[in-house]
Parts: sequence; C-alpha cells; structure tokens
Amino acid sequence: MRALVAGGAGFIGSHLCEFLLDRGIEVLCLDNLVTGSRANVRHLLGRDGFKFLKRDIARLKTIPGSSDVVFNLASPASPRDYLALPLQTLETGATGTRNLLELCRRQRSVFVMASTSEVYGDPTKHPQREDYWGNVNPVGFRSVYDEAKRYAEALTMAYHRTHGLPTRIARIFNTYGPRMKVDDGRVVPNLISQSLAGQPLTIYGSGRQTRSFCYVSDMVEALFRLAGCPDPMPVNLGNPEEFSVLRIARIVRRLTGSKNPFEFRPLPEDDPRRRRPDIARARRLLKWKPRVRLEQGLERTIDWFRAGPA
Ligand code: UDP
Repeated sequence: MRALVAGGAGFIGSHLCEFLLDRGIEVLCLDNLVTGSRANVRHLLGRDGFKFLKRDIARLKTIPGSSDVVFNLASPASPRDYLALPLQTLETGATGTRNLLELCRRQRSVFVMASTSEVYGDPTKHPQREDYWGNVNPVGFRSVYDEAKRYAEALTMAYHRTHGLPTRIARIFNTYGPRMKVDDGRVVPNLISQSLAGQPLTIYGSGRQTRSFCYVSDMVEALFRLAGCPDPMPVNLGNPEEFSVLRIARIVRRLTGSKNPFEFRPLPEDDPRRRRPDIARARRLLKWKPRVRLEQGLERTIDWFRAGPA
C-alpha cells in the first residue's frame, strides 16, 4: 500500500504522513515548502517507506511510481498565509487539485480532498451540516481560500461523476496541535506563543465569536478512515465542542500560568461569527468521533511550544 500526501510537510500533512507510516503504508510526501517546512518531516526522512519531494502541485509534471491513495492537503490554510498568498492559494486549489485528480485518473487511485469549514462562510445555519450550502462572500479577502476550496470540491465531484473516480471530500474544521507555526497567525498558536512570551493575548472583535477545535491526532485518524469509505459526498471532520475565543484565551492563560492581559483588536473582514460541525455523517460512515478534549490537546500543544519548534 502506498500513499501520496500533497502538502505532507504542512501541519496536518506531516501528522498524516507519520500516521500512515506507523501503519506500514509507504508515503510519498510532496510539498513546495511555501507554508510547510522540512523541519516537520525531518524525523521521518530516515524511515523505511518515506520519501520527500519538493514539488508544487500546480506545476506537477511526472511523479515516480504510483499510489493507491492521494491525499490533497496542499494549500495555505491560515488566514494570514492565504491573505498574503492570494494567487497561489487560488492556483493550488484549482490547478493543483486538477493535476492530482488527473494523476488519480491515470493510476485509478483513491482521491481524498482536504476541503474546509470555510465553504460554509459566515454560516446562517448552526451547527453546520454537509447539506448546508454556505454563506460565502465571493469577492472578500477570504474568498481566495473559500472559493478555491469550493471549486476544488466541484472539480472532485466532476471527476467522480465523469470518470467514476473514487473520491472523498473532507470538510476540515479548526484543527490544532504541535507543528503549527509560531507565526501562523491562527488563534491557538497566537494565544500560546503570546502567553509564553509574556505578551498581551490578542482578541479580535469582542471575542464572543465561536470555533470548535479538533486535536490533530483525531483529525488524521478521520482522514485515514475517510480514504477507506466509498461515499463521495462531503463529510465534516472536526470536534463539535464549541468555545468562544475569549473562553479559549482564558483556558490558555490558565494552562500556561500566564497573567498577561487581553488586547482587543478589530475583527478581520468576513470573520465567521459561529462555527460548529455537525459530525453525524462522520460518526456513522467512519465509526469515528474525536477523543482528545480541548484542555488535554492544548496541554500537549503548549508543551511542544515550550520545548521550541524543531
Ligand atoms: N483570533 C483572535 N486572536 C488571534 C487570532 C485569531 O481573536 O490572535 C480569532 C479570529 O478572529 C477568529 C478565531 O479567532 O474569530 C479563529 O481564527 P483563526 O485564524 O484561528 O481561524 P479561522 O477559523 O478564522 O480560519
């Protein structure tokens, strides 16, 4: 069994590579290292069955060997990154996804698309089920990510319907854990690194907006199970426990022993007000549910940030 993980040197991708190797699956990891990093997979380089290639999926020509399954996790995913890389984000989601789908069509491999809860935009329905079509601003700053992922979903379904390709779509909700970049800009790494550095904790808007955070080990297990599930329609993957940003900030402050004040900043444009996955489909199809509670996952992540990223 051999898997190709595009974006395999990224945060979720590197954990997925490790998860697959631990189950005896050979891994070909592709990454252009724009937001991913070699450090994320350095510990895997000497392992049997692991190979890393620096490649941009939007400029993919040939790939050595064939794979039974292709996971597409290649994309900037932090708002800070995709706002700084608007054209690459669109190109990765569109041309990059198309190149990987073509590869799968030639090899008859399973294709797993890492989509996102951002396809729901600022949702008017709560919690979000897969049959909700979303509330996305098509021309706002976030649209480069949201629309790239929506297009990638449409493309994936078109390959399934036109070529009978075995495809899967994961709608990944907020995920956190070790190997997030210190300067990633997302709320969990920001709050942890600010707490540890003795800086004020930045809260955007009132802090009453909510997110639901899934620990990365739960996420990669779900992605692996999804690869083996023959249903092409989207599946929400995430932890349905919902927290306000203020509440997460208070938990991080307590777990790090920090007394740093909060610093309120303006809410970014189109920042979704509430987000929580309905994971009934994932529970039923994948026989999966998240196991790591927020405090437990935050403790592990804080330990990793304290030790200093590799
Ligand atoms: N956020 C915040 N402080 C920060 C970073 C983010 O209050 O230092 C807020 C952000 O406005 C959003 C939520 O935390 O409402 C989650 O943001 P993140 O960038 O982690 O991911 P998103 O879910 O928006 O893609």
